[in-house]
Formats: sequence, C-alpha cells, structure tokens
Amino acid sequence: MLPHVLLCLIAPLLVLAGDDGGITGATSSAEAAGYSCDASKCKLPNCACASTSPPGGLSPSDVPMFVVFTADDAVQSYTLDSVNQFLAHRQNPNGCAPKMTYFTSLNFTNYTLVTDWYVAGNEIADHTMTHVGDPPKDEINGNLIALNALAGIPLTSIAGFRAPFLNYSVNTLKLLAAAGFTYDSSAAASIPVTDPGTDAFWPYTLDNGMANDCLEVEGSCKGQPVLPGFWEIPMYAFFDSAGAAGPHLMDPWLDIPSGSTKVNDTATLEYMKNTFTAHYTGNRQPIGLYTHPIHLSTTYPGVNPSNSTINMINEFLDWAQQQQNVWIVSNEQLLAWVRNPVPLSQLNDFAPLKCSTPQVDASQKICNGIPGNEDGLLSHCAFSDFPFYTCYGCPETEPTVNNPNPPQQIPDGQQARIRLPANCSTPFWDPIGGKCLCTSSQCAFNDVSRPIGPNGANLTGGGTGGAAGASASPTGQYIPFNGELFTVPPSVWAATVVGLVGAVVGAMTVV
Ligand SMILES: [Zn+2]
Repeated sequence: MLPHVLLCLIAPLLVLAGDDGGITGATSSAEAAGYSCDASKCKLPNCACASTSPPGGLSPSDVPMFVVFTADDAVQSYTLDSVNQFLAHRQNPNGCAPKMTYFTSLNFTNYTLVTDWYVAGNEIADHTMTHVGDPPKDEINGNLIALNALAGIPLTSIAGFRAPFLNYSVNTLKLLAAAGFTYDSSAAASIPVTDPGTDAFWPYTLDNGMANDCLEVEGSCKGQPVLPGFWEIPMYAFFDSAGAAGPHLMDPWLDIPSGSTKVNDTATLEYMKNTFTAHYTGNRQPIGLYTHPIHLSTTYPGVNPSNSTINMINEFLDWAQQQQNVWIVSNEQLLAWVRNPVPLSQLNDFAPLKCSTPQVDASQKICNGIPGNEDGLLSHCAFSDFPFYTCYGCPETEPTVNNPNPPQQIPDGQQARIRLPANCSTPFWDPIGGKCLCTSSQCAFNDVSRPIGPNGANLTGGGTGGAAGASASPTGQYIPFNGELFTVPPSVWAATVVGLVGAVVGAMTVV
C-alpha cells in the first residue's frame, strides 16, 4: 500500500499522460490540403514549402537520417530516469551524446530538473501550464513566463510547442506565431512514405498554410493559416502490418498492433524497423520516438513498466544506430539542419550537432543547473500538492494561468534571488549573488525579448518575481554556450551543450 501522498501524486500524472494523442487513420489528403507553394519564391532559411523531398535540393544519399526523440508532460526525476534509460549511453556519429526535446507542462514539474536538463543541452519546449487542449493564450504564454522565472530557461530558448492531446486549432498556431515561437509540433504525418499520397513532409513553414491534419483541423489548409517563417515539424507515424490503416503516433509500444490481441513487443519492433527502413531507403524524412516517459519509468512508485518493452525500444535504437548516418536529435537540432541543410560530408562540423560543455569551474558554488555546482543551494518550495526545488527562489504561491510569476517568498535572514536576466546564460548566472560569471566571449549571451507581457510588453526575464517585466529592445544576437554566433531574426537557434546527461539522474527525487 502506497502512502496517501504518493497516490495523490501518481494518479494525476498518469491521467495527464493517458490518451495523449493517438490517430486511427489518415488525417489528411491531397484534396483536403489544397496546398500550393512556389519553391522559387519560398527559400531557406526562413521559408520552406511542404515537401516530401529533402531540403536544399539534396539527394537522399547526402542526407542524414534523423531520429527525433521527444518527451511530454511534467519533468521529474522519474521521467528523466525514463528518458535516460534510452539515451544516456548512446553517441551520435560525431561522438556527442544525443539530445532531445521535452515538451513541459507545469503541474507536478520539479523546476530545478528542468534547469539541469536544459543546461545539459536538451531542448525545453512548451506544452501549456496545466495541460489543456486548444489552449487559450495565457496557458501558452504563462508556461514561458514560469519556466523563465523558476527554471532559468532563456525566453529565446523556448522555441517550440506541442498541444496537449495533440489538440490544436488554427487559433493555436496564430497564438504561437504571435508569441515568437519558432515551431509547432502537434500535427501528424499519417500516411506511409511508400504511399504516393503521403503527408510525410519535411518540416515546412506556414507561408502557404498547413498541409497536415487537413481532415481534422477546422479552417486549416487550402492556404491557411498564413504565418510566414513559422514552422510545422510533423510527427511521423509508424505503420504496422495493416499499412495505412495501422498508424501509431505516440508511445507506439503501448498500442496493440494490428493482428494482435494485446501489446506485442515483437510485432511492434518489426513494424518500427519497417517504417524506419521505408524512410531511410526513401527520401529520408525523419522518424520520431514521441514518448510519455512516465509510462516507462522504473523509478516511479506504483508503475511497473514491462522490461520487455524497455528492451525492445533499446533494441530498435541499437539497430537504427548500426546503420550509416543515423542521428538521434531534438526538434531544434533537426530544424537547425533543415534551415541549413549541409550534406553528410560536412555534418561533423555542423555546429548545432556538436557537443560542448559550459566551462564553469567545478569548485564554484553557484546555483546554475549543474548538479556539482548547485549542491546545497536549491530552494525547497513546499507546496502541499506538489513540492519542487528551484535555484531562483520560491514563489509565494504556485504559478497559475492568472499569475505565472508570483512574488518571491524570501526566507528570514536571506535576500531575494535574482532571476536569469537577458544578458547571461543559465550555467553562468549566479541567482544568489546576482551576478554573471561569464567573462569571455565564449560564454557571452544576449537573449531576445518576447512580445508576451501585459499590454504587449516585451518580457526579458530578470527581477525577483511579481513584476511584469521591463521592456527592452531585442538585440538580435544569440550566442550559445559554445560561442558560435547566430543571428536571430525570428528566433532561430541552435544551442547544443552536451555532456551532463546522466548526472541528473536521481539527483532530486521529490516525494
Ligand atoms: Zn501531454
């Protein structure tokens, strides 16, 4: 019998991760899409037509095979353990640890682990504050504000969004573009690449509207919505022995394959390999493992995932990685390559796929998302429904949609902690001393503001909480930790810092 407090924590998490995004057949058709795009006018890096052919006119033999890895919902030690059991022991062809995208919702999230996961080089993306489909604006923007304030994630870095239950509308896409997001990844590629009518498009911009989910989303497609420079990264389904009639989108290993009467890891492995091979030997559209990691956590009280399923997923990844030019990536890494599609011969020098570690002195006591540095410095925010830790000072109340950045609760005898400002990157910011440790161009950082504050204010981070955030001019420069310089009109980016995955495992179990 589990203690009551644990049951309280478990039940809502599993409900959230429950039926989060399945499809049962094609969600689009050429007729419903009514899509047209003039590739002579729509050019990279800020415009791309929806196309089944690789970007940049590259031949498939010059194109890497990307395996996108994503996770959805709350970030906790249990869920990071789950992701790590698939990724922490792997390397990409350039010797770097694979990175992934975490679509983060805030209920039951332990903010300090978001900081750690980000500083280790992974992408943190938005999944609304309280996990609602077809979300109102404040659910989307409040997630950005709270992750910036309490997890120290630069506003620039939260570039992507996935709708809970994959339930999005044309309005959702418009809200995302207006809030300065770079991409959405909620739409399904639901028709096999071997079908002439496949909707497995490479990521594309909405300069000419959507081309996926045209049978599902009202008012979408046939040229709508027009959102220049805003990207859709389709989620690529696997297909079982029933072909187009047997799509599996998220957590395919939890589904019953066609022809089986229960979960069947052997059949699932078989069709995952077959779908991968169809992509790999065709136009090399990416494939994706879109996970709800809580279902496969071996450390989460009360959940007993099947070892056979866990082993099957690792066997699939082992098998995929034995083939030439296969890279496990985050969405932001995929998009960085799509925008600048260098051929295989140049891939080892491609900055967004490189590994680098923020050069912070290991002896520094600084609350910065690196477990060795921040040991003993975290604030414990003892909220009754879900306590969490943070480097950036506890809020007086939990963040809500109406108030995503409440005033800070300052313990007796202590000073308020200073939140990440726009001119320092997360691993170099000391929120207790209120200073940036970076003294060289190698770690220099300028965030860009987001047009998401009250009355259209541009939020820039910083402060101690409670205030609306002062306005500031965007600087147009984003310099990730490895010192590579990128210019940022519509929030491009490619920070990839590596090397710390695994260090966070079990660092902060909250019960
Ligand atoms: Zn979700």
